[in-house]
Amino acid sequence: MAELLDGKITAKNLRLEIKEEVNNWLASGGKKPHLAAILVGDDGASQTYVENKVKACEEVGFDSTLRRLPAAITEEELLREVDGINDNPDIDGLIVQLPLPDHISVERVTQHIHPEKDVDGFHPVNVGRMVKNLPSYISATPFGILKLLEKYDIDTQGKHCVVIGRSEIVGSPMSILMARKGNPGNATVTLTHSRTQNLKSHTLQADIIIAALGIPEFLTGDMVKEGAVIIDVGITRVPDATKKRGFSLKGDVKFDEVEPKASYITPVPGGVGPMTIASLLYNTLLSAQKKVFA
Ligand code: NAD
Repeated sequence: MAELLDGKITAKNLRLEIKEEVNNWLASGGKKPHLAAILVGDDGASQTYVENKVKACEEVGFDSTLRRLPAAITEEELLREVDGINDNPDIDGLIVQLPLPDHISVERVTQHIHPEKDVDGFHPVNVGRMVKNLPSYISATPFGILKLLEKYDIDTQGKHCVVIGRSEIVGSPMSILMARKGNPGNATVTLTHSRTQNLKSHTLQADIIIAALGIPEFLTGDMVKEGAVIIDVGITRVPDATKKRGFSLKGDVKFDEVEPKASYITPVPGGVGPMTIASLLYNTLLSAQKKVFA
């Protein structure tokens, strides 16, 4: 039986820590942290994500601004909106909710956000600083996973970590963070992806598996060795007639098979997901306190 890595409780505690730190910061004359979010279009899931982020800001005592822009906005107009926030000294962090409409380049928009306000950690300056192990905003999902490992005191030093998936927002940064000097870190990392041959031969050697590929229940019991630590990043909506909303959320790990073999495992939902927003808040606080780009 594995111990659950409870993201709900860990994220709640992290939010409480942030709230306390904000109070101390304000009492010592600091400015209220302020996160701005830009939402383009009216995609339902994106609206929910962004509204949750704004609500979380209020809970920890931050100011927040939500700019809702029409799906038909041009790339140039969106870049001007980003400029406005970049130039606003009251705003510490800016996120642009993804996905963006097809006619807008995510890369151009990401690179337009000032690195000092890039609390999502997607700008090449922040990615480069992360690779060089310099202070940087680490993107929210990998940062949340590091925090979970840290809070549960999981020893990663010298362990073999297999990451499944090499996306820019999860798998790739996760592989760098687990390998770099530090705690969590100092692991020997194998980064696997859709072209990897005989994936099972790799996962069977892993002390830690981070599954981030987006295929529900991909990692099965026979792919995991006894005692492994399992981090399930995947969240896929799978049709489910027994649920009122018509779907249930599935991770990338076949939980029933893997859990009995694992030492620790994240549930889905309630594992990695809740840590993401708390990490974004943490980055915004770091920005307000000028702790990253000092
Ligand atoms: P992505 O689609 O950008 O990348 C998927 C990666 O998986 C690719 O690198 C691909 O090479 C690899 N892959 C695909 N099939 C594979 C296979 N058969 N074997 C090995 N590797 C394979 O996905 P993403 O944005 O990294 O997201 C992955 C999952 O994590 C999704 O379910 C997503 O919803 C979820 N996610 C969750 C959070 C969170 O907060 N919990 C945040 C981001 C993403």
